[in-house]
Amino acid sequence: MFGIGKRNKMPKRPCDDICSPFKKAATPVFTAQHPGDVFTNGWFLAESAADVKAVGIGGVYVSIDSSQSKIHDQKRGIAGLFAKAMDGIAAAKKADLTVGISSCIDEQAFESGELDNIIELAKRQGVHEVLVFDAKPVGRFCDRNDLKGSLWTEKMFEHIKKYNDDEKYPGILLYARATSHTGLGCPGGTCYFYMTPYGDICPCDFHSHKFGNVREEKLPLIWDKMVQQLGMHGSNWHGCWAKRFNS
Ligand code: SF4
Repeated sequence: MFGIGKRNKMPKRPCDDICSPFKKAATPVFTAQHPGDVFTNGWFLAESAADVKAVGIGGVYVSIDSSQSKIHDQKRGIAGLFAKAMDGIAAAKKADLTVGISSCIDEQAFESGELDNIIELAKRQGVHEVLVFDAKPVGRFCDRNDLKGSLWTEKMFEHIKKYNDDEKYPGILLYARATSHTGLGCPGGTCYFYMTPYGDICPCDFHSHKFGNVREEKLPLIWDKMVQQLGMHGSNWHGCWAKRFNS
């Protein structure tokens, strides 16, 4: 499965930016059996949803940082983004895409009830899934020592059961759970890698260690180096390896 994400504050129109290479490909990259997912801030989603569907992408995750439009826009630094994202969600549903909200939560946001607020928002918008990432000490958060611990996520595992037991709510997928000792472990460098726009290969976009560059070396050789050296395989208490490698 391909996952396509962008870090730009203001993406170009997704169809120019993301869909064009797939439209030009000699053989289809995505199929019904192997669909792709797109992560987006939703700015251009309303006008692009049908094109995204047409190139074989099956699902769209719209990143939402707050259930309140003003706070979301402030965090993202783009006025009007929340409203655009909601319009995009509606258009994606209409285009018959699987639609999720992805959100990054820390302990504070969980304890304050913000996770519940986001889940209620997702229910109101009729999305299929809420993908919850636990914030990691990387990027702007690299000095946040409080993000290195995993204990609080156990409370979150229990807390969301009531939503997953209720058919009226979207499915709630906790990334912390999927990567913990109770899940499959970290997929970075085991069944997943991240390629930067410059061709550097890292285990994932939160784990900044570079194992090679596809402009200089064949991808399978880089992959071998990664899986042999990293030792990320298997489930463990800490779950996400980025929490330790970047500390
Ligand atoms: S390092 Fe963390 S964020 Fe990256 S793939 Fe592993 S669990 Fe996921």
